Amino acid sequence: MEGFKTIIEPFKIKMVEPIKLSTKEERKQYLKEAYFNPFLLESDKVLIDLLTDSGTSAMSANQWAGIMQGDESYAGARSWIRMRDTIMDLTGFKHILPTHQGRAAERILYGYLGGKGKTFISNTLFDTTRANIEFSGSEGIDIPIEEGKHPEVLHPFKGNMDVKKLEEIITEKGSDNIAGVILTVTNNSGGGQPVSMENAKAVSEICKKHHVKLYLDCCRIAENSYFVKHRESGFESTSYKEIAQQMFSLCDGAIMSAKKDALVNMGGFLAINDDELNEKLQNLLIITEGFATYGGLSGRDMEAIAIGLNEVFEPDYLQYRIRSTAYLGDRLEKIGIPIMRPTGGHAVYIDAKALYPQIPLDEYPGQALVCNLYLEGGIRAVEIGSVMFGKYNKHHQLIPASMELVRLAIPRRVYTQSHMDFVIEVFEKIWQHKDKAQGLKITYEQPFLRHFTAHFESFI
Ligand SMILES: *Cc1c(COP(=O)(O)O)cnc(C)c1O
Repeated sequence: MEGFKTIIEPFKIKMVEPIKLSTKEERKQYLKEAYFNPFLLESDKVLIDLLTDSGTSAMSANQWAGIMQGDESYAGARSWIRMRDTIMDLTGFKHILPTHQGRAAERILYGYLGGKGKTFISNTLFDTTRANIEFSGSEGIDIPIEEGKHPEVLHPFKGNMDVKKLEEIITEKGSDNIAGVILTVTNNSGGGQPVSMENAKAVSEICKKHHVKLYLDCCRIAENSYFVKHRESGFESTSYKEIAQQMFSLCDGAIMSAKKDALVNMGGFLAINDDELNEKLQNLLIITEGFATYGGLSGRDMEAIAIGLNEVFEPDYLQYRIRSTAYLGDRLEKIGIPIMRPTGGHAVYIDAKALYPQIPLDEYPGQALVCNLYLEGGIRAVEIGSVMFGKYNKHHQLIPASMELVRLAIPRRVYTQSHMDFVIEVFEKIWQHKDKAQGLKITYEQPFLRHFTAHFESFI
């Protein structure tokens, strides 16, 4: 609304899901029972769940109405036609393959293109993307721009790829050994930071010159389009959807987890132009996901995706989405909380190493903050630091991650400003007690992806 400071939620609430309140004493007990790992908490014991923005969106009345209209025919379902046509219109790609979520599309495409001796290059590969690439026997190389590696440095497009390095790696490895270049928009692992159209164009030109294929990991393409329109000159009067369409036109294909910007709880797809490749991938799709006109999805899911993909580009929604995430980031910064700057599209990242300098890295400052957020206010967040990415040397000493971050991911259309104001108040307490914060010790862990299941012992 012009002339007003407050960005209101551009929706009314038709159905509510109760949040069960708890006391600090109770939360202390719950946290102990969960071995100080919020992944092991039952969600009913969480007040504000900022664990992830994936599959946690609230669907609109229109999407729920669409669910009732879902066509569950095995082949050629009406809902499939709607989903396919919506994606074709948005992406411009010729072949659309539905999958049950993003990583299934990744397994099919990167599994097929990859294999031993091949390399994928990206601004930053998301963790499931990297896992699928490495599982195929290929290597994945991340080349974000230098600014993207420093939390405190301001840059409008911190998600950009280093194009000079891109050309160097292609030349060094040889075009034939590059299985693909993957541009992740927005750059999830890099803090939800956007990629500029200029950068996407430069990446595309280099790929074309060397006959290397370019794929867009487009989970948050609408959020990325918002940043392009408002931060890059020349796009002021281009619509969000047209910006997305321009970006797709620079690529050979795209992969999407519909659990993000398609505003649904489950789903994904793969979109490509190449006829021959499509034949091969359709075979894999039918063997592992389902027939070509449903992938792993119900008709009702496909209906909801078709509707969500249009809703997400509505200007009022996007403004609310990006501005409300920035609202949380700005307020935390005002308190003094060190955050990754500027705030990205879907999450606020806190630099726990800077907040708790007294906690040694092998006592996990990020995990300490995650636990304190839960104890103080029932907020669930996720550590993205040495619990998630740390390794051990041969003396079983921790080789820490490069950063100790805590992510507050904001589910789409779920929480209101008063929920965020509560989160901010909890952070005021965190700030007051920061010098007293103590670390944790790992008492149980698995060799892979230990953050999901690890047990901790706390000094509190
Ligand atoms: C979530 C995500 C994926 C994987 O999608 P899933 O639906 O969780 O399998 C891939 N890439 C990015 C950038 C993501 O955010």
